[in-house]
Formats: sequence, C-alpha cells, structure tokens
Amino acid sequence: MSSHPEPRMLVDGRWTRGSGRETRPVENPVTGEILTELPVATIEDLDEALDAARRAFPGWRRTSPVERSRVLREGARLIRERAGDVAMVITLELGKPLAESRAEVLLAAEHLEWAAEEARRGYGRVIPARDPDTLQHTVLEPVGVVAAFAPWNAPAVTPSRKIGGALAAGCSMILKPAEETPTAALMMAAALQEAGLPDGVLNVVFGDPPMIGRHLVTSPIVQAVTFTGSTAVGAELHALGAPSMTRMTMELGGHAPVLVLADADVATVARSAVPACYRNSGQVCTSPTQFLVHTDVYDRFLTAFVDAVRARKVGDGLADGVQMGPVATGRRLQALTEMTADARARGAVVETGGERIGDIGWFFAPTVLTSVPPDSLAGSVEPFGPLKTVTPFDDLDAALAEANRLPFGLASYAWTHDSRAAARIAGELEAGSVALNSWRPSLPETPFGGFHLSGVGTEGGAEGLRGFQRIKYVSRS
Ligand code: NAD
Repeated sequence: MSSHPEPRMLVDGRWTRGSGRETRPVENPVTGEILTELPVATIEDLDEALDAARRAFPGWRRTSPVERSRVLREGARLIRERAGDVAMVITLELGKPLAESRAEVLLAAEHLEWAAEEARRGYGRVIPARDPDTLQHTVLEPVGVVAAFAPWNAPAVTPSRKIGGALAAGCSMILKPAEETPTAALMMAAALQEAGLPDGVLNVVFGDPPMIGRHLVTSPIVQAVTFTGSTAVGAELHALGAPSMTRMTMELGGHAPVLVLADADVATVARSAVPACYRNSGQVCTSPTQFLVHTDVYDRFLTAFVDAVRARKVGDGLADGVQMGPVATGRRLQALTEMTADARARGAVVETGGERIGDIGWFFAPTVLTSVPPDSLAGSVEPFGPLKTVTPFDDLDAALAEANRLPFGLASYAWTHDSRAAARIAGELEAGSVALNSWRPSLPETPFGGFHLSGVGTEGGAEGLRGFQRIKYVSRS
C-alpha cells in the first residue's frame, strides 16, 4: 500500500473510522494497486451523523449569511492553496491526467466561492397588498438536514456543488462521496472545518451505497436529497423519499447530441471536439456523445475527427504528455467492451479504438463508431466512457428528431452560424443545457440540470440554492 492519505469519516466534527471493522479498498485504476482502505459506516455511525446534523442545523441556520459566506470563501481559499495535493489524490484514485485533476479542484473552489456569494443574496419578495395596511412578503428558509450523494467521476466538483448550495442556504448535511474516489471530498471537508465550519454542519460517511442511501433517505431527519449518478439509482432514491415528500435534486445520466450543420467550420469543430469528448475518459454526464453531421460535411468531419482521436495519447495520468487515462473501474471497462461488441454485431463500423489497451489497469481506447443502429446499446445507453458515435443527417428536422429520440436531456451541443437554425435548435432541443458553438455546458454561475430521465432540479447559478430552500409567505395586517 502506498503513502496515500488514510481516509476517515467526519461525524460531528470528529474524524473517525466508525464503529465497525469492515473496510473497502480504494484502487488505482492505472495499476490495480490498492491505495488505501476506506472505513465502512454502520447503522450506528449513520445515526450519529444524522443526529449531529440535526443538532447543528438550528445554529447554522441562525448564523448570519455573511458568516456562512466567509466560511465557504475561506474553505475555497484553503482548497486552492492545496490544489496540487488534492489533484494528486484525484489522479491516483480516478486515473485522469494531473492537469485535468488540478483544473477540477480549482473549479470546485470556484463553485464554493459562487455559493458563498449567493449565501448573501437569499432575497424574498415584497408583494403589493390589496389592503394598504397589510404587508406581504416571502422569505427563503433553509429546508433542514440534507443527504448528498456524489459519484466518482468528479470527486471534487460534484461534492463542491452540493456542499456549496446546501451550506450557503443554511442547511446542515451528510455527504456520501463515492467509495471509489473518497479523498478529495475529505480534503475539502477538512478545509471547511479549518475555515471555521461548526461541528456537525457537514458530516461525511462511506460504506455500502444502497444501505446508506436507504437509511439516510428514509430518515425523518432528512428534508432534502441531492444525488448525482445513474438514472436507475436516482429513481430508487426518489421512490424511497416519496412517502415523506422529501425534496429531490437529481443530476442523472445523459447522451449528449452534437449537431454539426453544413455551414460549420468542420476542421475546427473536429479538432476542438476531441479534448471535450475524451476529457476524463468521457466519464462526464455532459460529455458530447452522439455526433449528427450534415451529409455535405460528413466525410470531411469524420476524417478530421478520427485522425485527431487516433493522435490522443493514452496512459498514466501522472506521466508527462498523457491526454487520457484509464476508465475508473472494471465495471466501466466491461460496459464499454459489451457496448462495442453489441454495436459491431448489429453492423456498426469501428472507425478507431473499440478495445481494451493492455491487460493492466482499466484502459479502453478512444473509440469512434459509425453506422450505429438506434436500438443498439451505443445508440440508446449513455456510454459514460471514451466512445462516440457519428451519424449523417440530411435536414434539420431529422437531426432534431434524432437528437430528441432518447428520454435523456442533460447537455446538448450544436455548431452553426446560421442564426435561424441556431434559434430553432435552442428552442427545440429537449435538454437542460444547449451550447451553441462551444463545448461549455455549465459554469458555476449558470444553472445546471436535466430534463426527463436526466433529472429534476438544478445545481449551480442562483438557482443552485433552491433545492435546499423553502418559500414562506408572510402577511401582516
Ligand atoms: P452508480 O449509479 O451505480 O453509482 C454512481 C454513484 O452512486 C456512486 O458513487 C455510488 O456509490 C452511488 N450509489 C450507487 N447505488 C446507490 C444507492 N442505492 N444509494 C446511494 N448511492 C448509490 O453508477 P456506476 O456503476 O458507477 O456507473 C453507471 C452509470 O451511472 C454510468 O454509466 C453513468 O450513466 C451513470 N453515472 C452518472 C454520473 C453523473 O455524473 N450523472 C456519474 C457517475 C455515474
């Protein structure tokens, strides 16, 4: 085992290994080496965390927004100061290139800073009254204790959105980061603790995800749930919270379409698409996935895209010049292998990649498929990996219909300078984010959320606090 930081849970301000003896290994996806062992929470540990969050809530709720803002900003400052160390653990646990991990940590700090600013803007509204002697207004109140679940693909950014939104709103919380990539969230929690976050406001636990999910979501202490992950698990948690009407923010899967119209500068689009598509080995819920390209420019686009994909340097995220690491887990590697085999069997063409690289670590080659049938796995399930499809289209109606075919609607992209076409695309794509002529589907200051099976609610932007707030109407005559 390496000198990886030894993870502990954070309960009521104490760093603890919990009351149980069970542990879970944390693996380096490049080498298969066990980096460290993670404590597994027992029911007693979860009850302790729930009780700590319940007790901490009234004090944090009454803490002035200015002070809440200060804590978040100071936490963000410490995270920036430690960005190199946090980036290193992300790369070791997830495998992505160190520069990508560092950029993620700085973005996580920015999310906390944005939330810190929004903490001071919990504006209600004065509503003109019918009676001149009556005062009518609304106030935004924190909902209470939040249960937050973050996946492994963005070990710093996803927790930062949830922590930032909940704490800025005045909620206390229990966070379960991903067991595969636990350490970045712990380092962020430590920074917030050092910044002066009172004990019990943020608790961090790990263990058996279904057991923790069930116990936290069905607890009467928990008033809101925020989950990022697969639609299947999101639906399960949603159902568990339904009897108690628990508020839900769900950031689920996507299958992002990219429309490339005939007027697009295809060489530029193809070249710039490659870093966007294969960032984090494509394990990003907004990753551009299905390219729909006008027949006039299809051949030129495909050649330029495949050439740029083939030039991608794959390897250990710690090595110089590496542009893409492995996928995070054996589960992902197997899913991608099955997806490619299924597409091939149904007549798809593997333009490049399509197979595992080596037999140590979870490396899957950057892959481009064409002639992919809509009902194949690749044509209907989120690849969540370095696998992209390219399909020609003749007219915009057909392209929009294809882009809206699946019941997902998270990110979408289109490349055109035809303003009428751009307006139609922006209006008709069924997705929470439409990026025209860019690969940036979200920023800390913009709301981010999905339509249909991609989720409910939003994170980020001024809207990012709403999942953690309730509206009260007050009238005084
Ligand atoms: P998963 O849904 O099994 O796991 C994702 C996260 O949810 C993990 O951190 C896991 O610990 C947690 N989780 C799993 N079951 C849970 C439960 N019952 N209660 C609470 N938390 C639970 O996903 P996976 O197998 O790692 O990946 C499968 C698919 O999930 C991917 O193909 C992708 O579509 C989707 N995914 C999406 C995102 C995203 O950012 N939206 C992130 C990760 C995975």
